[in-house]
Amino acid sequence: MTDLKDFSIAFSGLKTGFHNFDLSIGETFFKKFEALAIDEGEIFIRLKMEKKERMLIFDFSIEGTVSLVCDRCLEIYQQPVEIEKTIYVKLQNGLHEMVEESEDVILISDQESEFDVSQLIYEFIALSLPMKRTHGVDEDGKSLCNVYMVHLIESDRQANTNEEETDPRWDALKKLKNNN
Ligand SMILES: [Zn+2]
Repeated sequence: MTDLKDFSIAFSGLKTGFHNFDLSIGETFFKKFEALAIDEGEIFIRLKMEKKERMLIFDFSIEGTVSLVCDRCLEIYQQPVEIEKTIYVKLQNGLHEMVEESEDVILISDQESEFDVSQLIYEFIALSLPMKRTHGVDEDGKSLCNVYMVHLIESDRQANTNEEETDPRWDALKKLKNNN
């Protein structure tokens, strides 16, 4: 697993042209970016950077799997992650802070010597994860969830709804009984 500080690419000392970085993320990364709600996983990143005079072009190739909690049966399942993305970082004169010019263009001060890619990787992964996290279905369209757990959770949900819908008169009676 790559140390978090190694996500800062020190570009100023590098020659113009192509440079490759192999990065990997796991527990430490998921802890830092806890909004992902991922406890475990292994993701490898092949990062190709082209350094130009006033621009850095980052080609991200992100691949791996993460363990997610299924929304339906609450068991862990493996979610594959596969992302290809290109980001253009332009070096600009007189900038005081980073500016996101568009979805794939970022402006930074030409006084900077490093660029941290961890925030970008976090955003790519966050956007790639499905809104609804579930086990999904097999080739025959059959749910891969733990059927037993789904059944338990659904009957539990039903029991809770029933409780809320009890007859107020019955609640009053119960109160009376408890007071005696
Ligand atoms: Zn499931």
